[in-house]
Amino acid sequence: MSNTYDVVVIGAGPAGYAAAIRCAQLGLSTACIDKSIGKDGHPTLGGTCLNWGCIPSKALLDASHKYVQAKSEFAEVGIAVESVAIDVPQMIARKDEVVSGLTGGIGGLFKGNGVTALHGSGRLLAQCQVEFAPHEGEVEVLSAKHVILAPGSVPVEIQPAPLVDGVIVDSTGALEFTEVPEKLGVIGAGVIGLELGSVWSRLGSEVVVLEALEEFLPMADERIARDAKKILGQQGLDIRLGTRVTGAEVQDGGVSVSYQDAEGDQTLTVDKLIVAVGRRPYTEGLLSPDSGVNLDERGFLYVNDLCQTDAPNVYAVGDVVRGPMLAHKGTEEGVMVAERIAGFKPLVNYETIPNVIYTHPEIAWVGKTEQQLKADGDDYKVGSFPFAASGRAQAANDAHGMVKVIADAESDRILGVHVLGPQASEIIAQAVIAMEFDASAEDLGLIMFAHPTLSESLHEAALSVAGHAIHMVNRKRR
Ligand code: FAD
Ligand code: AMP
Repeated sequence: MSNTYDVVVIGAGPAGYAAAIRCAQLGLSTACIDKSIGKDGHPTLGGTCLNWGCIPSKALLDASHKYVQAKSEFAEVGIAVESVAIDVPQMIARKDEVVSGLTGGIGGLFKGNGVTALHGSGRLLAQCQVEFAPHEGEVEVLSAKHVILAPGSVPVEIQPAPLVDGVIVDSTGALEFTEVPEKLGVIGAGVIGLELGSVWSRLGSEVVVLEALEEFLPMADERIARDAKKILGQQGLDIRLGTRVTGAEVQDGGVSVSYQDAEGDQTLTVDKLIVAVGRRPYTEGLLSPDSGVNLDERGFLYVNDLCQTDAPNVYAVGDVVRGPMLAHKGTEEGVMVAERIAGFKPLVNYETIPNVIYTHPEIAWVGKTEQQLKADGDDYKVGSFPFAASGRAQAANDAHGMVKVIADAESDRILGVHVLGPQASEIIAQAVIAMEFDASAEDLGLIMFAHPTLSESLHEAALSVAGHAIHMVNRKRR
């Protein structure tokens, strides 16, 4: 095996594997090192996203949503089901099948594109040299013209709630319960806490979500966050804001959780506890002292807008660098870096990163929120359209939520789009495209949308910015 490459990538998550594939497509000799071991005990590719993140969580979210539909919603649309039962081991086994299919697919893509997959640990030395310690065999030093660091992130652990195998778990453990806990506690009402809390709540757990902040989803639009909290509450998620967890102790197989709220010290007893208090950049063992790469004050690898570190020809992408910890953000950074190494000049537009929370209804947004614009003193106008007025949403018996379009008061340029509703994750892509092309709300209003679709609600919200949505009575008419 040659140990000299144009590019060595450390980490085969969505940031690293996309970078490696794009490098190989561009004719660069590329190796990608990853140390992950999958559930089957074998090396796996795809990082957090494919193994323990986006994909397995969506497999369980989709399965649990189907269960809710069969149990509670089919009758209303005229489908009588004799009995509906959950088979948790089968649900988990199917999730594992999806994961192994997709992670195996990355191996296939590496082979097909000519990326050398190296299973083991990588460590950046000085001068673009990389120490590779394989799972089996001798350590060797690889030489590269360029190195891309994509080691990702790991769950944050908190001192008051140390993990206890199978009982107090992080997001990875919460994807592996073998039965539905009767009572489930979740620490953290962030994206991951809400998604995993939803899975088990839908399957029958009594779920309490403890969140230290007073505000629900502060990064989302206030109105959307308020409506989402109400709907999730109606579904059974008991979200308690302003509650800081101070301790968690395993007792008789369950967990006694202590927390503080406005009234003082409280306790809660649950069967399982999920700690979902965020993720931190993972840099353990990644850098030799003379690598030349620096960390920022929060432990992320320090990079500029082009993902260049302080060391010449060394780049870093994905969760390990500033910006939202999202798979698609890492992928675009990986592709940008690969193309820059090959001499092209692409950029990542950090202003148009879509955010999605895969609850039901889904919550999705891009661009600025109303509260951000207010804080910045910017003049803006708002249009919105409720899914209750959407023919397609009504026909599908899925008509909660709304689309909200925010545009600049003067230029009409779209500044932000916020969606709470069915398939918000798909609808938001259209808003991203519009914003990438600097569209105005009027532009979006002039475009024809197929009827009946959920996307029409985006069209109508854009029209309503100027006060002439068709399928609702506009507050301001023109
Ligand atoms: P990772 O995916 O973490 O991959 C890094 C890889 O590098 C790992 O395989 C790691 O083992 C390897 N590695 C690290 N150090 C070394 C080393 N020194 N040597 C060799 N290998 C090394 N994001 C979304 O956009 N949408 C979602 O729906 C979504 N859902 C999520 C649900 C859950 C439960 C979780 C936990 C996360 C979710 N995320 C989601 C976040 C998403 O998974 C991450 O943003 C994404 O995986 C980051 O990609 P990455 O390539 O930077 O790092
Ligand atoms: P995110 O970073 O989006 O995954 O969200 C994690 C959430 O966990 C944040 O909203 C934090 O406020 C919350 N959190 C962190 N520590 C605690 C704690 N001890 N008790 C309750 N909530 C917490």
